[in-house]
Amino acid sequence: MTSDLTTVGAGQRSDQWYRRAIDVMPGGVNSPVRAFRAVGGTPPFIEMGRGARLRTVDGGELIDFIASWGALILGHAQPEVVAAIREAVGRGTSFGIPTVAEVELAELICSLVPSVEVVRMVNSGTEATAAALRLARAATGRPAVIKFEGCYHGHADAFLVKAGSGLATFGQPSSPGVPPGTVSDTRVARYNDLPSVSELLADGRVAAVIVEPVAGNMGCIPPAPGFLQGLRSLCDTNGALLIFDEVMTGFRVALGGAQQRYRVMPDLTSLGKVVAGGTPGAAYGGRAELMRMMAPDGPVYQAGTLAGNPIVTAAGLATLRYLADHSDLYQRFDDAGEKFSSRLGAALQRSGLPGVVNHVGGMIGIFVGIEHAQNWDDVAGIDQDLFRRFFHAALKRGVLLPPSPFEAWFLMEAHLDATLDTALDALSEAIEVAGT
Ligand code: PMP
Repeated sequence: MTSDLTTVGAGQRSDQWYRRAIDVMPGGVNSPVRAFRAVGGTPPFIEMGRGARLRTVDGGELIDFIASWGALILGHAQPEVVAAIREAVGRGTSFGIPTVAEVELAELICSLVPSVEVVRMVNSGTEATAAALRLARAATGRPAVIKFEGCYHGHADAFLVKAGSGLATFGQPSSPGVPPGTVSDTRVARYNDLPSVSELLADGRVAAVIVEPVAGNMGCIPPAPGFLQGLRSLCDTNGALLIFDEVMTGFRVALGGAQQRYRVMPDLTSLGKVVAGGTPGAAYGGRAELMRMMAPDGPVYQAGTLAGNPIVTAAGLATLRYLADHSDLYQRFDDAGEKFSSRLGAALQRSGLPGVVNHVGGMIGIFVGIEHAQNWDDVAGIDQDLFRRFFHAALKRGVLLPPSPFEAWFLMEAHLDATLDTALDALSEAIEVAGT
């Protein structure tokens, strides 16, 4: 990889930077899972990325399956996205009053995501889900929300109950600092288990059911056949709204997200990651009559100084336009996911290890040590020590996986060449090494 970027941190190694980081940041990081606590060791500090590869300040090169936790779908420093950001940045970084790109991005989102008629941009997935829940509560006049064990919807108080990856990694079922009153209306159901939902809807106090339509915060767990359709009809029968949290799945498992792939229309949708092309942006949207309840059309308040920021809208537009022009990419992700499953499944078998490899489009989940992965109860049984050995064996062979067994892995367009085989060879070897 040739560098045309200013070299940051060259000459100091990751472990030195990490020591400095720990002094001034909680855990040395700006988001907990980056601290590598679930796998041990020092996180590599990244100098730059190109395509599917990262270069660390130690001079190492890694094939990256974190992909900024799914925010990147094309690759690092994808030329069209970088050019769009450069062009936008030259005209000013923030105005806080309307720009043309906001309208173009909103139109594009509404045209691509089947259930979204009106959309609002925000700055993070956390904001998108929190706003969608506020709107659902306002629209129904009801207080409660149903979420699923192992699903994560950002760190707003109401969702910090049995919330998958980051929290599971740290063994915290919830978080101190969340007042009990705030979560007293949060009800937790089992993923892929409709009767557990129906029971919780019975008292008529539920404003919304929120779900990751493909769970990505307890590895990658697809919805069982009929699960999403079942949620739709349970919500309809009980007067609750259905919120698809497509922060991870939006523009990822299909161009129109999971709602398009599984043909289920939610009332509200949260979007993040890909929608902002690797910059800090997100969105929520849905049926017009619901979204028109948001200020200033309606009484439900939600606002943002940097919402619809020109850097974000430029990156989002460039990414979504590219995806719309190259929609064959989704079939290529499915094919690559299939290859992943069969190669890694075979490696597990050769090593005599139980394991499940799931994939939905460009999302992949590998669960070592268990034989079924349908919901959190299954996933909680994974062999964390084995994962740790596997993770480090992969890292040693030049492949960077998410540093937690409860995270999904992500494919980018840039993986879809000889890189995929190189990575699969390294990962197969890593499984065999970890299993011995
Ligand atoms: N919802 C889902 C499904 C997510 O995966 C995430 C983040 N991984 C969020 C919401 C929160 O998004 P953010 O980190 O941008 O606040």
